[in-house]
Amino acid sequence: MNINCDIARDLIPLYRDGCLSEQSRRALRTHLAGCAGCRAYLGEYREHFAAAKTDAAAAPSGDFYKIAKRLRQRRTATEIGVGAFIALLAGYAVFKTFKNNIEDAK
Ligand SMILES: [Zn+2]
Repeated sequence: MNINCDIARDLIPLYRDGCLSEQSRRALRTHLAGCAGCRAYLGEYREHFAAAKTDAAAAPSGDFYKIAKRLRQRRTATEIGVGAFIALLAGYAVFKTFKNNIEDAK
């Protein structure tokens, strides 16, 4: 079975994952043996996935850090807001207590 470059490149992901039938694998290998372009494509495809696997294992993506930073900032803002509210409440309680004491003293 002869396949053209389009079909060969469609099959490369399946070939890489070991999901091709014996007949398709043979057809792809025959094509790759005679086609430098598709061999290069397969090489790039393998390199791309090897690099992606290494990056994913080594460190989370930049997006992860951005999201984590944003969540930290949001948490800090919430803590400041809650702290300010508690301080306001405590201030009001102190004010009320003094006001009542002054009124009682009269
Ligand atoms: Zn080809």
